[in-house]
Amino acid sequence: MAAEVHAFQTKVSKLLKLLANSLYSNKEVFLRELVSNASDAIDKLRFAAISRPELVKDDPVFSIRIRADREAGTLTISDNGIGMTQAEANQHLGTIAQSGTEDFLEHLSAEQAKDAQQIGQFGVGFYSAFIVADRVTVVSRAAGAAENEAVKWESDGSGTFTSELTTRTCRGTDVILHMKKDEADFLDPWTLRGTITKYSDHISTPVYLWETKPAEEGKEPTHEWVQVNDAKALWTLPPKDVTEEQYKEFYKHLTHDWEDPLCWAHNRVEGDLEYTSLLYCPSQAPYDLYNRDVQKGLKLFVERVFIMDRAEAFLPNYLRFIKGLVDTNDLPLNVSRELLQESRVASKLKKALTKRALDMFAKLDAEKFKVFWTQFGRVIKEGVVEDPDNRDAVLKLLRFASTKSEGAVTVSLSDYLARMPEGQKNIYYLIANSREAAEGSPYLEGLKKKGVEVLLLWERIDEWMMGALTEFDGHKFVSATAGDLELDGVKSPESEAAEKPSETSKEDDDRAVARFKAALGDQVVDVKVSKRLVDSAACVVGAHDQMLTEQMRRMLEAAGQKLPEEKYTLELNLESPLVKKALAEANPEKFNEWAGVILDQALLSEQGSIKDPAGFLKRLNALLLG
Ligand code: ADP
Ligand code: MG
Repeated sequence: MAAEVHAFQTKVSKLLKLLANSLYSNKEVFLRELVSNASDAIDKLRFAAISRPELVKDDPVFSIRIRADREAGTLTISDNGIGMTQAEANQHLGTIAQSGTEDFLEHLSAEQAKDAQQIGQFGVGFYSAFIVADRVTVVSRAAGAAENEAVKWESDGSGTFTSELTTRTCRGTDVILHMKKDEADFLDPWTLRGTITKYSDHISTPVYLWETKPAEEGKEPTHEWVQVNDAKALWTLPPKDVTEEQYKEFYKHLTHDWEDPLCWAHNRVEGDLEYTSLLYCPSQAPYDLYNRDVQKGLKLFVERVFIMDRAEAFLPNYLRFIKGLVDTNDLPLNVSRELLQESRVASKLKKALTKRALDMFAKLDAEKFKVFWTQFGRVIKEGVVEDPDNRDAVLKLLRFASTKSEGAVTVSLSDYLARMPEGQKNIYYLIANSREAAEGSPYLEGLKKKGVEVLLLWERIDEWMMGALTEFDGHKFVSATAGDLELDGVKSPESEAAEKPSETSKEDDDRAVARFKAALGDQVVDVKVSKRLVDSAACVVGAHDQMLTEQMRRMLEAAGQKLPEEKYTLELNLESPLVKKALAEANPEKFNEWAGVILDQALLSEQGSIKDPAGFLKRLNALLLG
């Protein structure tokens, strides 16, 4: 029967093109990918054999075998795992299953693709074979399939592959790489042995290499299979017996990430709940961190048998970037995703693993913590809302920008409390649309004058997060835009310097306020003399403390909600030259224009926009022209 010709899925073709044009600094990773696949195939069969032991009866001892043929220029990676039917080979070796990859490939420029890290985090998997081979042949027979139901799949990595039925004497898969001329190095026994050892050290299936013994006098050289790993699952070893290098390699095997992990936590727990967990934090956020369709989670093993990938039940959503595995004897071998949802053991494990993960972050040194926060800070913020049980631990991980720290986002809540001036009760924060808007906000003036530090926030998630926060270590969180800032008891060097008697009398103040009130009418709820302003002329504060900030309004608007029209109290800085100039205006009509412009300015600075910009400009221009 003639071979069928198939086109690769478009995104596979794109990926293959990128691979062909990329210069890799670490080409050898193709071996990790292929050995990983062989090991995965064996794990899958081990699992299937729990309910169908007949699948492995004919060939019960699992192994991965690697053989180089220098004359033929081929390298063959074989396993006796679950194998593939023709339909499965066409499907699995012709498409990319992950969702969201299209986008990633679209945005990855040829320049970036040269950078192995970029493309590595994407997980090139099987297709990495084409980095070193100009033709790849796969011969596979699925466990349980007949001898003549095997498949031969072949491609040169351009746009198409062929597939046809063939025979194979037993189940399993051979991946045969026809090496590119200039990649023959990988066929060299020494190079190969070194690389294979590195990539199979932690694999729980024995990996054998076909080795040639030097010929004795007058005899042919002999060959034999030599085992190159000790085939013990890495996480079953005592942590003290595992080297840093082994942890890193195991991470790469698990995740397909080509970069080292940032940190890991390996725990073996006995007693009431028995489990072994190995959690890793990547050093770079994955491109699909915010893709809701992508399943995330740990690998689950029960009694050392691989059960499932990406089991979501063991970590909260805000820790979805954590990779690793959990192995337990307390779940049944036939556990399903549905069962996990309701399992008490799973929810106990989730509790325990969440603590382990948070603890792992709390222990990071300053340099690593910085990487952690830059990459994952935004996701950790979700935890403030999502995980009230661990709120304190999550709050300790948060870092902020503030009025007393320049540049980087580095202030922890404990830092903040430690340097609070005497008499300060609350933790002050300000949410704005951007860092610039936060730093320049008039709401900070009075707080700065008093020597009070303000945490600055401007990310989309901040509004939501702060909404869920009431206090830390007995101190209330108070927005700098709140009506009452409760600053009276604060004693700092700055606050003493700022104490000076008001220049104006109470009667003058009342008269000024009354004039503004009359001019603005029902555009405002009230007009007050401000205690918080130093340079700015005026600001608005909500009629109540829970006023919506601009970010929240936009979110609600985008969600199609109708917003109540908001009115504010206008706070006036009677010492500002602008307000003084306005008050000096005797003509009531002109004064109305002044009052309108001052209100619009305050709204503009609070919201980043005003309802009637044209009207504002008209009034402003009228004043400028006198
Ligand atoms: P991943 O391993 O992340 O799923 P790969 O590109 O490495 O992605 O492999 C794609 C798919 O091809 C695998 O999920 C598996 O279904 C199939 N496959 C690859 N190698 C083997 C193998 N040695 N035995 C059985 N199936 C395999
Ligand atoms: Mg793979």
